[in-house]
Amino acid sequence: MGEVTVRVGHEILEQVANPENRIELTTERDALGMPRVRTTWHVDAAEERTHRRSLEILLAQLERIEPGISAARLDSDPWPRDIVGTWHHVGATRMSGDPATGVVDADARVHGIDNLHIVGSSVFSVSASTSPTVAIVELAHRLGDHLAQRRARPAPMASPSGAAEGSVAESPQIHGTSC
Ligand SMILES: Cc1cc2nc3c(=O)[nH]c(=O)nc-3n(C[C@H](O)[C@H](O)[C@H](O)COP(=O)(O)OP(=O)(O)OC[C@H]3O[C@@H](n4cnc5c(N)ncnc54)[C@H](O)[C@@H]3O)c2cc1C
Repeated sequence: MGEVTVRVGHEILEQVANPENRIELTTERDALGMPRVRTTWHVDAAEERTHRRSLEILLAQLERIEPGISAARLDSDPWPRDIVGTWHHVGATRMSGDPATGVVDADARVHGIDNLHIVGSSVFSVSASTSPTVAIVELAHRLGDHLAQRRARPAPMASPSGAAEGSVAESPQIHGTSC
């Protein structure tokens, strides 16, 4: 086999959760009077490892079809020169069983607030390498089923003070967001 050059086209990587990556409101306002946001986004060693390992796996697969190709020269290493975001701002209210590491629990309920639920890619615990919308819709269906079941359960007993025990809400609030 003659000399072969491999060119990396379009590659989408999953990014690990990094608490330093965040979207913050600033005091500046846009033309509609809404606060502008500031995005802090770092791509680190974990993502570079994922990129290099993905290439290794890809070349190993190609080697099965075209022996010798895994020794091919890379046209130019796209890392880190060609990195761009995918417009998928996720994970600001990530899901975790532990309030120390997440905002919502497995039922998309905000830890410590019984009647507040969040649905959207903001509850993703990592970015995922694929587009988020299908998973967002699945999460919305799942939360809808959960809330329907919750409404169907008998109301909690009222305590002598008149307050409902267990603080189950009459009308759960659902918030949708992607950031
Ligand atoms: C350029 C671009 C291309 C994309 N392409 C794809 C793609 O090809 N495939 C894919 O799967 N995903 C794609 N995405 C990502 C996808 O669009 C988002 O992940 C998805 O829209 C998130 O849905 P959501 O309902 O969680 O949030 P959003 O769609 O952002 O909805 C949040 C809603 O909340 C409203 N809101 C915000 N704050 C308040 C407030 N205080 N009070 C009341 N309402 C409020 C907003 O107006 C908005 O309507 C793309 C995103 C961008 C920007």
